[in-house]
Amino acid sequence: MADRITMTAEGGLTVSDEPIIPFIEGDGTGVDIWPATRMVLDAAAVRHGRRIEWLEVLAGEKAYRETGEWLPQSTVDTLASHVIGIKGPLTTPVGGGIRSLNVALRQMMDLYVCLRPVRWFPGVPSPLRHPERVDMVIFRENTEDVYAGFELEQGSREASRLIEYLHDSFGWSIRPDSGMGIKPVSVTGSKRLVRAALDYAVKRKRRSVTLVHKGNIMKYTEGAFRHWGYRVAAEEFPERAVAWEDCGDQPGDRVLVKDVIADICFQQVLTRPDEFDVIATTNLNGDYLSDALAAQVGGIGIAPGGNVNYVTGHGIFEATHGTAPRYAGQDKVNPGSLLLSGAMMFEHIGWQDAADDIVRALAATIADRVVTYDFARQMDGVRKVSTSAFAQAIVDRL
Ligand code: NAP
Repeated sequence: MADRITMTAEGGLTVSDEPIIPFIEGDGTGVDIWPATRMVLDAAAVRHGRRIEWLEVLAGEKAYRETGEWLPQSTVDTLASHVIGIKGPLTTPVGGGIRSLNVALRQMMDLYVCLRPVRWFPGVPSPLRHPERVDMVIFRENTEDVYAGFELEQGSREASRLIEYLHDSFGWSIRPDSGMGIKPVSVTGSKRLVRAALDYAVKRKRRSVTLVHKGNIMKYTEGAFRHWGYRVAAEEFPERAVAWEDCGDQPGDRVLVKDVIADICFQQVLTRPDEFDVIATTNLNGDYLSDALAAQVGGIGIAPGGNVNYVTGHGIFEATHGTAPRYAGQDKVNPGSLLLSGAMMFEHIGWQDAADDIVRALAATIADRVVTYDFARQMDGVRKVSTSAFAQAIVDRL
C-alpha cells in the first residue's frame, strides 16, 4: 500500500518503501525526458525492493489547456502535502500572468536553497584541461535578492514616486527616467542558506564552504551576506567548521569557511577548480555561477538541480534546462539533467543506494560512449542514441 512521505517532529522525513511522489511532466521536451527518467528511477528503486507510486500534477501548458490556469492551486497544495516532487522544464508564459512558474513554485513553498551539484563524468566533453578536478556543490539563495520581484517600470507613476521619495528622504539622485528594482538580502535568508550549506558540508565530510559575494561594492547586501555567513559558522558550528582567518588555512578535520568576491570567483573556478568544494551564495551570483560551472562539465543537458527547504523537508527536483521546444517529441534530447535530479531526490529521501546506482550506471553508459546528440557532436567514436535508448542503456547498466 503506497504512502505519502511525511515529516517527523525532529525535521526528518518518514519514507515507506512505496512512497507516492508527485511529478510535473514539463512542457516541450518534457514529453521525452520525463518517461526516460521515470523508467530509470523505477528500475533503480525496484532493485532495492521499493516501488514509487507516481502522481501527476499539472503545471505549464498542459495545465493551461486543461484548467485555464498555468499553475493551479491544487498543484501547489499536492506538492506541499506530499513534501517532495520532481518536475520537467516549464514554459514561462510571455506577457502577463505569473512571471515564471519556477520562481512562483519556489516562493510559494519557500524552497530557499537552489542546490546544484557540479561534477564531471569521465568521457563527457569539457572545455577544461582538467575537468576531473571539478566537484562542487552550489547552494544558491532562492527567495530574495534582485529576484524577489520588487521592480517598477521606467516611466510609471510608482517609479517616479519612489525616485522622489529616495531623493527627499536620503538625498539620493537617481535619473528620473530609470526603471527601479529592490535588492533585499536579510539576516534570516542569508543565515538559513549558509546554515544549510555548512550542515551539508559537515554531514558529507566536504572540505570547505566558500561564501561568494560582491561585498566590496554592495556592502549592506552582499557584504552583509558574507558577514552573516561567517557568524553562522562561528556561532552554530564552532566544533565542526572554522573560518580561514582563525586557522591560517589549517582547518584540521573541520570544514574550512572562506569567501571570495564574485568576479574573481568566476576566474578561479576555471583556473583552480580544486580549490572550490561547497559554495554558498546569493541568488543572482548563484544563477550565473551554476550555469557557468555546468558548462565546464558537459552543459545543461546533464546539470541537475533541486529546490529545497531544509527546515520543512520540502523539495522539488528539476531539470535545470528549459523546454527546448524545437526538439519536443523527437525522442532526441539528453534526459541526464532530469535523471540526475531524480537521483538527488532519492538522496534527499534517504535512498542513497538507489541514487548511487543511477550515477554509476549513467557514468558507465557515457564511458561506453553511448550518448545523446548533444554529447555526440563533441565526442569521437560514439554511438548516438535517442532519449529512450539512452535511458534503456542506463537501466541495462544499473
Ligand atoms: P532551453 O530550453 O534550455 O534550450 C536552449 C538550448 O539548450 C537548446 O536549444 C539545446 O541546445 C540545449 N538543451 C536544452 N535542453 C537540452 C537537453 N535536455 N539535452 C540537450 N541539450 C539541451 O532554453 P530556451 O530556449 O532559452 O528556453 C525555452 C523555454 O524554456 C522558455 O519558455 C523558457 O522560459 C523555459 N525555461 C524553463 C526552465 C525551467 O523550467 N527550469 C529553465 C530555463 C528556461 P542545442 O540546440 O545547441 O542543442
